[in-house]
Parts: sequence; structure tokens; C-alpha cells
Amino acid sequence: MIDRYAVIGHPISHSKSPLIHGLFAQATGQTLEYTALEAPLDGFKATVESFRAQGGRGLNVTLPFKLQAFEIATDPMASARLAGAVNALKFEGDRILAQNFDGLGLVNDIQRNLGVSLAGKRVLICGAGGATRGAIVPLAEQKPAVIAIANRSADKAHGLKADFSALVALQTGGYEDLAGESFDVVLNATSTGLSQAALPLPTGVFAPGALAYELVYGKGLTPFLKQAQAAGVIRIADGVGMLVEQAAEAFEWWRGVRPDTQPVIARLTVPLV
Ligand code: NAP
Repeated sequence: MIDRYAVIGHPISHSKSPLIHGLFAQATGQTLEYTALEAPLDGFKATVESFRAQGGRGLNVTLPFKLQAFEIATDPMASARLAGAVNALKFEGDRILAQNFDGLGLVNDIQRNLGVSLAGKRVLICGAGGATRGAIVPLAEQKPAVIAIANRSADKAHGLKADFSALVALQTGGYEDLAGESFDVVLNATSTGLSQAALPLPTGVFAPGALAYELVYGKGLTPFLKQAQAAGVIRIADGVGMLVEQAAEAFEWWRGVRPDTQPVIARLTVPLV
């Protein structure tokens, strides 16, 4: 029987994961099937069980099931435990192993693909949702000078500061608290890239030579990236590299083979214009 993998979410038809993993399998000579699986909103666990019963070996998990995937895991790895959310599952007998590769994918894209070292840098994350939660520890492991988190509802950012206090000292607040501060790496981990809303970022938030990184991908110049350009930022990127890098981590975890990400990133990149 062919080894079966899938991405599970709701909705799921937009997902690039079948294309990405299909390209990885082709390039590495791995024989597998990778499909998109839409679970009913109230049927995540049943859909996973049915996939396993039919010989499923692993799943990528996307919205809105990343927290439910954590709940069904028998063996959550450190990346999943620290994020409290899961984006990849591996089935081994009765065990359900769980990982969260989003943060590592982000760090790999920034450092390896974009060539920006995070060590000693001042890093700002806009947003305090699931993507930010998953990114905090992988970012902190690179030893930046500061990790600041700003969110529309400042209380949610303060909540992250409390949750991660044993591991990393975070600077948290609302956007108004950023006045007078500047950062070398500014990450937009809000969903505003999808809704075309702008963030109330104070002028001067981008330090000279800063990287402005939009986690949303495939949308061209989002309001955040336009704000960065208007402030004189030259280095801008969207999250296509993060998407492909987290997929590569999952592929290696499942198959024991590291795929080359560059051709896949090139294939999926939408110009930032
Ligand atoms: P989430 O948990 O739903 O969090 C959304 C965040 O956006 C919250 O902080 C929310 O602030 C903020 N927000 C929404 N609308 C806003 C507005 N109009 N003004 C200011 N802030 C606003 O989402 P998530 O899972 O963290 O994902 C965030 C984005 O990252 C998504 O759009 C997703 O596409 C992208 N992402 C990309 C990758 C990748 O591989 N490239 C991976 C993961 C996620 P409040 O708390 O105040 O509501």
C-alpha cells in the first residue's frame, strides 16, 4: 500500500501543501500520496481516525484544527508543547506524535533564505495569535537582543509574556507603546494581510536596514509591506519561504530525507508588487 499523507483543515481547497509535498516527493524520489482533507468543523478527530484506519502515515494540520491536534497527540514534541498547538502529526502504531514546525520554518526562512541573522537583533512581532505563539521559542533560540510583541488587544500580548516567562523575557504591549522604539526585524503575524487592513505602526518602528516580513503569503504588497516601503525599508518578504520551510521540516520528519526548498519557493513566489 502506498504511504498516505494529507493536509487537514476547513476550508482546505486553497492549500498549497499538496503541491509542495508532491514536488518534494518527486525531487527526492519518494513514493507517497499527499492529498487535501477537509474535516467538518465538528469532526476533526473522526476524520483523523478514519485517515489512520485507511493507512495514513502523517498529517499537516491547518486552521482551525491546530489546537485540537494538540489534544489528540499522545506524544507532543517540545515544539508542539511550547506552542500549545500542532501543525504536523505522525502516526506510529497507537502513538500520535505531534510537532509544530511553523516557528522553525520562519527562522529558517529569515536566516538561511533571506540571509538575516537574528543574533543580537531587535525583533518585533505584530500580532499575538497562534503564529506568534509558535514563533517565540524558535526566535528566542537565535539569541536576539529583544523580542517585542505588539497586539491590537494588548492584554493578549501580555498573556504571552506571562505564558513564556520561564523561557524568555518578552516586551509586550499595544501598538501605541512602540512610539520611540525601532526594530531590525519587524514581523507581521497578524491576519491583516488577508483583510487588507493597516496596522497603526508609529513612524520610526523600522530601524535603518530593517527586514519587514509579512507572514501571509501570495498576496503581493500587503498594507504592512507598503507601510514598510513608505518608511524606506528595502528588505521586504512574505511568508512563502516560511510555508515551504515548515513543509520541508515535516517531510524530513516523516520520510528521513531533506528536500531542497529553493526550487519550490521559486515556483510558489508571487512578486511583491
Ligand atoms: P490568529 O491566531 O487568528 O491571530 C490573528 C492575529 O491578527 C491576532 O493577533 C489579531 O489581533 C490580529 N488581527 C486581526 N485583524 C487585525 C486588525 N484589523 N488589526 C490589528 N490586528 C489584527 O492567526 P495566526 O494563526 O496567528 O496567523 C496569523 C497570520 O499568519 C495568518 O493570516 C496566516 O495566514 C499567517 N501564517 C502564515 C504561515 C506561513 O507559513 N507563511 C504560517 C502560519 C500563519 P487580536 O488578538 O487583537 O484579535
